[in-house]
Amino acid sequence: MSVEEVLVRLVNDLGAFALIALGYRAVFKHFAAAWARSVVLGIMFGMGALWAILNSAEVRPGVFVDARCVMIALAGPFGGPVSTVLAAALASLYRLWLGGAGAYTGTANIIVTAIIGIVSAHALGIERNVLSRRHLAWLGLASSAGFLTIFALPSEIAWPIFKATFIPVLIANALGVLLLGQFLGRERRSLDRQHELEVEAFVDPLTKLPNRRMLERVVAPMIQRTQDGHGALSVLVIDIDHFKQVNDRYGHDAGDVVLQQVAQIVRRNIRSQDAVARFGGEELIVAMPSTEAAAASAMADRIREIIARETGRNLGVTVSIGVAADRGKQATFKRLFKAADEALYFAKQNGRNQIALAAG
Ligand code: GH3
Ligand code: MG
Ligand code: MG
Repeated sequence: MSVEEVLVRLVNDLGAFALIALGYRAVFKHFAAAWARSVVLGIMFGMGALWAILNSAEVRPGVFVDARCVMIALAGPFGGPVSTVLAAALASLYRLWLGGAGAYTGTANIIVTAIIGIVSAHALGIERNVLSRRHLAWLGLASSAGFLTIFALPSEIAWPIFKATFIPVLIANALGVLLLGQFLGRERRSLDRQHELEVEAFVDPLTKLPNRRMLERVVAPMIQRTQDGHGALSVLVIDIDHFKQVNDRYGHDAGDVVLQQVAQIVRRNIRSQDAVARFGGEELIVAMPSTEAAAASAMADRIREIIARETGRNLGVTVSIGVAADRGKQATFKRLFKAADEALYFAKQNGRNQIALAAG
């Protein structure tokens, strides 16, 4: 088999591989859960490898040479270990099903390449998107190492195949991994940047709590469900007592630490269905779906107590909390927030370190 012939096949395969690279972005967009991404990417890389095997050259009866390893090797850095195992399993099953003299060595090649992909991704830090051309070139060359499994065949069969095809296969793998890897790398960096921007836009950098913008997004469906008659929605407005004095006495940095501590305590003590945000300044908002006023008040008082106790070991601060609950059609976030904020004012007036429930 000539170099040209292998390159022509590779160019053929690259069309399908490019589709997979395009699908990469779609997977990140549509699957938020890491496990779901791994599974879908595993299937995609596996399909790419299947396509390559379908396009293979039969160099001896039952011995196929193709660019399957490009897909298997890239599954490590771009999909992760789970994707690689899945992709390798799909390709291996297909190769075994095809059968022939090269069935076992062909499968061994896939498994060796999968291991090389996972180990290289780990060792070179490719997982963390440090995708230099040098790394990809190394992975491309390394992905041909599995080809050596051909020597498990009797040497009078293995040698001629090796001599005729190893160099073309090496070139095809190296080029395939380099080209596709660069494309995937660009997609990955752009996705990461997009994610960073989203985080910056929706997360408060000091407390790492969602910000107001994020809360508005999360609360919208809660309001909808409340208006549709699914119980009451409760809102807490939590405000640190005499926080100006903390800043004045201990400095702004110490104040920041207290704010972080309070944020963490609130986050730890709400339920998974509740949402918390830093609304600005030293005010935190908690939205509690399907929660009646009495239950919300009890939770607010518990949070108040824990903050007084836990921050007491450090620079002790207390908080006052306004609570409001509403149900049915008239429940809007604006009304709930206003009512809770007014209740907070009463808690402050009444001596602080307490909760107050809005009337109504
Ligand atoms: P009150 O008990 O009535 O709430 O008194 P207060 O001093 O806490 O008054 P208020 O809530 O109006 O004051 C908010 C203060 O919080 C003003 C500001 O200096 C401080 N603050 C707001 N954001 C931050 C922050 O990010 N870090 C620090 N260290 N302080 C902040
Ligand atoms: Mg305050
Ligand atoms: Mg305040």
